[in-house]
Amino acid sequence: MINLYDLNLAELTEFLAGLGERPFRARQLYAWLYGKGVNDFGLMTDISEAVREKLAGAACADGLALAETLASKDGQTTKHLFGLDDENSYIETVFMKYKDRNSICISTQAGCRMGCSFCASGADGLLRNLSPAEMALQVILSERAAGAHTKNIVLMGVGEPLDNYENVKKFIENITDDHGRDLSRRAITISTCGIVPGIERLAKELPQVNLAVSLHAPNDELRKKIMPVTKKYSVADVVSATQKHYEKTHRRSTFEYALIDGFNDSPEHAKELAALLKGMNCLVNLIPLNRVDGARTGIPLGLSQRGDKPMRNSRLLAAQADPAEVAERFREELGKRHVPATVRKSLGEDIEAACGQLRLRKNESTE
Ligand code: SAH
Repeated sequence: MINLYDLNLAELTEFLAGLGERPFRARQLYAWLYGKGVNDFGLMTDISEAVREKLAGAACADGLALAETLASKDGQTTKHLFGLDDENSYIETVFMKYKDRNSICISTQAGCRMGCSFCASGADGLLRNLSPAEMALQVILSERAAGAHTKNIVLMGVGEPLDNYENVKKFIENITDDHGRDLSRRAITISTCGIVPGIERLAKELPQVNLAVSLHAPNDELRKKIMPVTKKYSVADVVSATQKHYEKTHRRSTFEYALIDGFNDSPEHAKELAALLKGMNCLVNLIPLNRVDGARTGIPLGLSQRGDKPMRNSRLLAAQADPAEVAERFREELGKRHVPATVRKSLGEDIEAACGQLRLRKNESTE
């Protein structure tokens, strides 16, 4: 059965024509689905019952079931775990309330095949890509649960967005269509581990969308140990693609850099990073590493990868002396060299809001 959230307005118009409906019906429906976030045909009061019945017989507009919700103690962060329709698996969506705006962090794949050694999302590999509908529904359903709208969407949840390019593109086109939600593409950010051809396509095809690149190391040798994707796309290639993205789009990119105790967090690493990014109009976002408990999951994260030996997770679990101090010093080293950086305050740590941890636990408990 067709999921209406998988269709753009032109496709919806065509689909409805097949049911004998005129184009205005498609715009009406699109406004319900995206503008009002209503996906129950029964609630679409300005559409006649006969038409609603016809619709229900030929299409659906659901596919995610809310399985669990966790709210952080400070109430700022809410994490939803959604069950997929066809698989015994879950994805995560995080709704964040800031003073001046709300933001939603959505997943783009069930699992991930990038194999970053510090990340829980890829621990079980990739199950499958999410459809445009499953991305849209994360937004619709978590807004409904929050009783609030958001203008900002970050594609930074489970999965690698540029490994599911077509569906991600369609989701963004649909959610920003002015007949529906009319969200600004400038309020959408795609986070990638650095898939160069994907970055090039983004610059061409979705130039208003913001780019965040998960760098985490200033050279290939280090980066290969934690991010196997470096074997395919070198640090130099990723940085150059990001620079070209800026030249095309004039949107300032962010480089994510998780500080890992004793591994990539020394003043020398900061200097090397500053030299790498010298002259670029970018922002470095320093993130305190979220400890993923490999012992708890029994999964030696990253070690399932072939080739270079990724870091052992126990290494990543080593306690940092004073993460805030290390981050501040790293920021200063970058600042001295005119590379702007911020230290990200980690939201929602008490609910395992980051990086697919909750999903991993839920998947295990249902196995
Ligand atoms: N695949 C995309 C988006 C999902 S990951 C990407 O790589 O960017 C979202 C961000 O969380 C990335 O920057 C990722 O490197 C980071 N991340 C994953 N595990 C983490 C951990 N344990 N601690 C801190 N950041 C982590």
